[in-house]
Amino acid sequence: MALTRNTKAQEEVLKLMQETPHTLTVDEICEKIPLQVNKTTVYRMLERFVAAGKVHFITSSDGKAHYALCTSCKHQHTLHNHIHFQCTACGTVDCLPDKVEIPVLPGYQMKETQFLIIGICTKCAAVGKE
Ligand SMILES: [Zn+2]
Ligand SMILES: [Zn+2]
Ligand SMILES: [Zn+2]
Repeated sequence: MALTRNTKAQEEVLKLMQETPHTLTVDEICEKIPLQVNKTTVYRMLERFVAAGKVHFITSSDGKAHYALCTSCKHQHTLHNHIHFQCTACGTVDCLPDKVEIPVLPGYQMKETQFLIIGICTKCAAVGKE
């Protein structure tokens, strides 16, 4: 029974992520999926998706992880080179199509990259929020 429920929850989380144009935190996922799932379960599920290369995350300025589906992982999965934009007015964190070139750092072992720009998103800028 537990397995079925977990499978259903996984499907709901992936569906929500596919339908959402921006990243989602564990709290937002728990609020939005039509199933009662505790945060720890969702967090573990996302960790498995990250390990499997399905999902990546960006840590925002408040220290929260914001998750998004991986669409194209051309580099090594954990070395994402697209930029994320965090809006200080609405709090949304978007995956942008813009990419940065990951530098070659001789002698350093890169395990993960996160690129975050903080500012005002296009929607908020359009209505004069700052
Ligand atoms: Zn990825
Ligand atoms: Zn905004
Ligand atoms: Zn992203």
